Amino acid sequence: MAIQHAKDSTFRQMVQTEGITVVNFWAPWCGPCRMFAPVLEEFEKEANDSIKVVKVNVDENPVTSSQFQIMSIPTTIIFKDGQPLYKEIGILSKGDLQQLVGSKYINKKGEILLTYDCAIIGGGPAGLNAALVLGRARRSVALFDNSQPRNAVTHASHGFITRDGVTPAEFRRIAYEEVLGYPSVELLPWEVTEIHRTDHRFVVVTSTGKQIEARKLLITTGLREIFPDIPGLRDCYGTSLFSCPYCDGWELRDQPLIVVSENSGVFHMAKLLYTWSKDLVICTNGHAVLDNDQKQLLKSRNIEVVEQAVTMFIGYEGKLRQVEFADGTRIERTGGFITPEWKPKASFQGSLGYEVNEFGGIATNEWGKSSVPGVYAAGDAAYVMPSQLIYAAAGGSKAAIGINMELTEEDFV
Ligand SMILES: Cc1cc2nc3c(=O)[nH]c(=O)nc-3n(C[C@H](O)[C@H](O)[C@H](O)COP(=O)(O)OP(=O)(O)OC[C@H]3O[C@@H](n4cnc5c(N)ncnc54)[C@H](O)[C@@H]3O)c2cc1C
Repeated sequence: MAIQHAKDSTFRQMVQTEGITVVNFWAPWCGPCRMFAPVLEEFEKEANDSIKVVKVNVDENPVTSSQFQIMSIPTTIIFKDGQPLYKEIGILSKGDLQQLVGSKYINKKGEILLTYDCAIIGGGPAGLNAALVLGRARRSVALFDNSQPRNAVTHASHGFITRDGVTPAEFRRIAYEEVLGYPSVELLPWEVTEIHRTDHRFVVVTSTGKQIEARKLLITTGLREIFPDIPGLRDCYGTSLFSCPYCDGWELRDQPLIVVSENSGVFHMAKLLYTWSKDLVICTNGHAVLDNDQKQLLKSRNIEVVEQAVTMFIGYEGKLRQVEFADGTRIERTGGFITPEWKPKASFQGSLGYEVNEFGGIATNEWGKSSVPGVYAAGDAAYVMPSQLIYAAAGGSKAAIGINMELTEEDFV
């Protein structure tokens, strides 16, 4: 396929609806355009047939030039599947062009494996803030997300300055709108099922069979919560039962509350919650995790301890009314906190081999760097506590800066 010349009347047909089209805006009188021409020709000769190179003479084709706001020449626009992805002004090297289109990475079937600077697995606050920072740093980002955020059950998110009380859906809507405003960030709305490491690269495979290649990897897949199997719990979780007092304690202040936790952290939770409500019942769900001194101290504050198992949460439209115990007794409660077991939402440890920390999250340094070169993690995937939107977002931002530093060091030699 040779370089083709488009006119205003033919431009739209010439831009491929599938695959990559490199469009060069030029003029015969322009010196830099003449210097760039042989680079484009060489790039076109070496490129796989699935990449098309099109030239547009700006003097003869004012409609197309103004449609793409060409103020200076040469300008190159990379189109993917008919949509403009990148716009670069000035002379580019062959290497620049290859990096922009990923033409060096073509699989056996001739399909392009786009090599992104970074693949982000998980588009919650951690992944989104990382995508924002990397997009602003002009890095190409493949942002994978299968839309199952941890806080989906709750009606409002709290404690994130300027967004206190926002619904999780609205938080994500604003975040995606901001992030996808940066042209080098691409949302790939699929579940990632496999990640393999090749020589200094990562191949990311989705449940739909799509695969891409990336130079760096950021895992921000979050957590999965596992609860004791108690009828009624799921109905109330996110409306009147929660797991984090900092997130939802204010909304339950001064109410009759129950704390259900099977681990020794229940004592800490009881002390913590006392600021939000003095009307507390602590339940260990059939486990003996409190010692006598702790029970004594709780009793001195009029905090009742129940060591029986909970058999049912009784509520209406998610609002807790009563809690039933194994001996059949019921107490009136309007809300409470429950400690689930936390597991990573997705694990790629088998193929990547990163170390995990004491909470089962991916062990990282302060820049989100894991024990495996090129692999970063942030948000709930890296640390279970403290588990908050703003920590996740901050972790994503730090990891993005770590990744950008590494890419810069590799490229600027
Ligand atoms: C009921 C409840 C209420 C909460 N309330 C608050 C609150 O008020 N304030 C607050 O600050 N925090 C709150 N939190 C905590 C907060 O939700 C988390 O700390 C935060 O969401 C963590 O962000 P993250 O980006 O690490 O993970 P998540 O927000 O969980 O995002 C992870 C994303 O990765 C995607 N993903 C996972 N695996 C894959 C895969 N294999 N392929 C592609 N995509 C994948 C998921 O679909 C998801 O979109 C609450 C949590 C719960 C459970």
